[in-house]
Amino acid sequence: MQYSINKLQKYFKHEHENGYSNKAVIGGLAKILDFWESEARNEGVPEDVIALVSNRLRDYHRLSPQSRAETLKGLWKRVQGNEGPLVEEGEISGGSALKATEEKAESRPATQVMVEADRKPEREPQRPVENREMPIKKTKAPRSSSYPGAINSQTPAAFGAKLDVLHGVGPKHANKLEKLGLFTLGDMLYNFPRRYDDYSNLRPIRNLKAGDVGTVIGQIQGVYERKARSGKLTIIEAVISDDGFSAIRITWFNQPWLMNRLANGMNIAVAGTIEQYLGRLVINNPDWEPVEIENLHTNRIVPIYPLTESISQKMLRELMDQVVKFWTPRVVDPLPKPLISEAGLLSLGEALFQIHFPDDQEFLKAARDRLAFDEIFYLQLGVSKRRKDWTKQAARKFEVGDDWLVKASERLPFKLTNAQNKVVAEIRTNLAAGVPMNRLIQGDVGSGKTAVALLAALMVIEDGSQIAFMAPTSILAEQHYNTFRSLLIDEGNFEESQIKLLTGDTNSFERGVISEDLKSGTLKILIGTHALIEDPVIFNDLQLIIIDEQHRFGVQQRATLRQKGSNPHLLVMTATPIPRSLALTMYGDLDLSIMDEMPTGREPVKTFVLRPVERERAYTLIRSQVKVGYQVFVVYPLIEESEKLESVKAAVDEHKTLSEDVFKDLKVGLLHGKMKPAEKDQVMAEFRDKKFDILVSTTVIEVGVDVPNATVILIEGANRFGLAQLHQLRGRVGRGGGESYCLLIPDQENAAENERLQAMVDTFDGFKLAELDMKLRGPGEFLGTRQSGFAATLRMASLSDVELIEKASHFAKRIVDQDPELASPENKLISEAVTNFWNERGDVS
Ligand code: ADP
Ligand code: MG
Repeated sequence: MQYSINKLQKYFKHEHENGYSNKAVIGGLAKILDFWESEARNEGVPEDVIALVSNRLRDYHRLSPQSRAETLKGLWKRVQGNEGPLVEEGEISGGSALKATEEKAESRPATQVMVEADRKPEREPQRPVENREMPIKKTKAPRSSSYPGAINSQTPAAFGAKLDVLHGVGPKHANKLEKLGLFTLGDMLYNFPRRYDDYSNLRPIRNLKAGDVGTVIGQIQGVYERKARSGKLTIIEAVISDDGFSAIRITWFNQPWLMNRLANGMNIAVAGTIEQYLGRLVINNPDWEPVEIENLHTNRIVPIYPLTESISQKMLRELMDQVVKFWTPRVVDPLPKPLISEAGLLSLGEALFQIHFPDDQEFLKAARDRLAFDEIFYLQLGVSKRRKDWTKQAARKFEVGDDWLVKASERLPFKLTNAQNKVVAEIRTNLAAGVPMNRLIQGDVGSGKTAVALLAALMVIEDGSQIAFMAPTSILAEQHYNTFRSLLIDEGNFEESQIKLLTGDTNSFERGVISEDLKSGTLKILIGTHALIEDPVIFNDLQLIIIDEQHRFGVQQRATLRQKGSNPHLLVMTATPIPRSLALTMYGDLDLSIMDEMPTGREPVKTFVLRPVERERAYTLIRSQVKVGYQVFVVYPLIEESEKLESVKAAVDEHKTLSEDVFKDLKVGLLHGKMKPAEKDQVMAEFRDKKFDILVSTTVIEVGVDVPNATVILIEGANRFGLAQLHQLRGRVGRGGGESYCLLIPDQENAAENERLQAMVDTFDGFKLAELDMKLRGPGEFLGTRQSGFAATLRMASLSDVELIEKASHFAKRIVDQDPELASPENKLISEAVTNFWNERGDVS
């Protein structure tokens, strides 16, 4: 195996062992790219593999642990299909930080996928990893055309000139450069450095102290190999010095090959944390790379570019220098001057100069900001345009009168909240407008989205049309089916044959009936899981699609379902409290309804943070609640450092302790990630039917499941969960009339953690908790497949940069408001840039 591939495997394994916490490498897995790409290239690793690895890893930090596991697994498959699995089959998909389980869908035959459709959403929506993003192509395609705002009619024609116009570039080199996606001068400008070496304030070794983190550069004074006491472990040590006097020791464990790569007199850069050992400064197991000596004296920030074989850093940098110096002053900025100054941005030309050869760190940041601004800005404009195209299509009108609405609402066993009424009114307007509705309802858990969905459905079937309602799991689909049935059939307005459930469990006879009745039009409401998409069902007249927990589905799935009708109305619902700034960027093409009110009479769930030693108090409360007939959830965290198996074992053990000891007089059920989806569904159903008093669970209890009789949720290791997640879990209780409790027990005493958990005690607003969570933990938690695919199209902007997103959105919105068609002369270049960018990019969201 090649050295670089070997190294990759090592890091991936490490990462797996760390539960995909992105801690295998200091500063995150993406850091290895600095060294890895050139190494891999030198070893002749194919360019597409390098591009794949670097594209995936660059956004790694933004992914949820589930997606990370998938990403690494997928990558490994691609990188080294024949070297065998990265870890034993089943092991990686069952990494402790994962709720994912049966993870073989990619290789499942299609028929089986259909039957087992319900499993798919158990994890993140599955699309083959290959489809997920386009940057792979980007490295092959020219750079500039994939960059928002890069090209318009005023762009100097020379930007399209081939690279052999440059001094020192012949056809041979031009060919090589094409491998980097560099075809034209314009591409060069948008070939951003991968990182920078900042020689402007390098710390001399003599000034270093333990605890410092950063890069140290020095000349190797000596390299030694020794064996650790056990005799198995090889240790390589090098001493480096930058003034011939002060020195620092670098230690690498178990990388014997380094002996052949390090030599006396070599200058290397080493990145890591300075530690102290026996009074001396050391750096353990750092990343390193050779340094070009001439940079040492430049006293500036030096760009480091991605390379390809036989193009050296030095050569590429000189070419960049030629292009950047001459051409950036000639770049035409599509943004009008007043906007630039009001938004406090660098001009495009200046930003492009500074991103390559920054004067200082401040300019570098300003350059990044400008380029990131462009990404969000053009994204927003494009999304607005799409929304406009969407609204140009015609859709069937469904109009209902006030009387009708009052009557329909009276079918419900409760009075609608104001928030529900407001959203129902919005939907009513949309359905009557003759334009396809495209609406997202964001409502906290328990805010009553199902009732709204029901009314929307009634508006459409009133005219004899059909609706499809898709939920991510069969237990949820079944729950909705029962709700709809009891409200519709029991009231006598409906017949059995008009409303059906379609899941992976539906037998073939029933499928046949459904298929017939859909085609003939007798079946009006079809509720189900993924089976709705995967089954070859044909609707007679599908006019409304409702999707519950929409973040569990990909856009593709939304689109597939939509194709089953002609311009049907679309209503998607989510309980994931996405902060507004993020929602604006991600769902800008959807109308947003927010249900920010809970049905009356619902008491907030009483929340307590207990210290581990106070567990007995929790047990007492549980006992007393069970005594009066209520039920209890006990949730165990996904244990990070140990493996999934251990996490399961912990729950199994706890279940044993709880059922045989603590609560031996009670019925205690168990739900864990190693169970098959059908088994899980069954346990959930049994719990709902009161077969157990207490349900011990390792994994997140299914979103949206309604067990009104459950009044206590005890969450162990609460510090390991995000606030948004805790809030979702808390939403499992407090759904009936009774007073409910959420007990949070962190697994150790930790003041800071307890303070974070305290937010749960004080706040019952999922949105506030989500905002807070995002501030504390970054946006990764919210980003599923769809979103990470989205994030992958951003090269400079990070979705966690709320301020920037808001700023760019603000200016984009203002332009659209003033000039919806972007027809005015001052917006002409913007309009061209949007068109160019979106043509290049296709369907982003
Ligand atoms: P979610 O928004 O999380 O999907 P559901 O639609 O499952 O919430 O509703 C949660 C519970 O609240 C259900 O038991 C439902 O019957 C009840 N509910 C919904 N709307 C109201 C209301 N206006 N008044 C009282 N109870 C309601
Ligand atoms: Mg729901």
